[in-house]
Amino acid sequence: MTTTLREESVGAGERAASGPRVGVLALQGDFREHAHVLAGLGAEVSLVRRPTELAAVDGLVIPGGESSVIDKLSRTFGLAGPLREAIAGGLPVYGTCAGLIMLADTLLDAIAGQQSLGGLDVVVRRNAFGSQNQSFETELDVPALGVAPVRAVFIRGPVVESVGPDATVLASLADGRVVAVEQGNLLGTSFHPEITGEHRFHEYFLSKVRARARS
Ligand code: GLN
Repeated sequence: MTTTLREESVGAGERAASGPRVGVLALQGDFREHAHVLAGLGAEVSLVRRPTELAAVDGLVIPGGESSVIDKLSRTFGLAGPLREAIAGGLPVYGTCAGLIMLADTLLDAIAGQQSLGGLDVVVRRNAFGSQNQSFETELDVPALGVAPVRAVFIRGPVVESVGPDATVLASLADGRVVAVEQGNLLGTSFHPEITGEHRFHEYFLSKVRARARS
């Protein structure tokens, strides 16, 4: 994916000083696109690569990318443990695509040794759309976000194969496959709202961050 936002410009002149402090996990993947969207919505955005940076935020986005790489780097950087603790402690976290994979309690078609952080009571299958149809766009009904459909871009995306009693389905494809879920402060989508100009998922996430930051 192309990016135009330079790292040092994240937040500089783009953030509202009063906005919630939202981190974007910046180990790999399209973290700059998320940072851009969040800053545009008034969040005070920072990139997270270290436990101290994680400790300074009120919410976190885990971007799309390659989940096996994000997994490896999070362990190498000593972030996996703090991330699990933060999730268990109620930190609002939004995962898109690889980020959803990172949040799933159970993975299918993971590479050998791949671990997720967990938190979402779901089973997620990586690369679920097969080689013929790895990337596509569609319109999704997401009743929690209003009546207008959400334009959703899938890029070698996962699907949620089963949803446990603690998680809630937010959106499914026409064939019934689940592609957006939430559970308390956790939100996950198989697709990438950060690259379509669709901001309602980020706004929905920010409302969770603001509610927790106030409490
Ligand atoms: N297939 C990737 C993975 O397994 C996810 C793709 C994406 O994030 N766009 O992590």
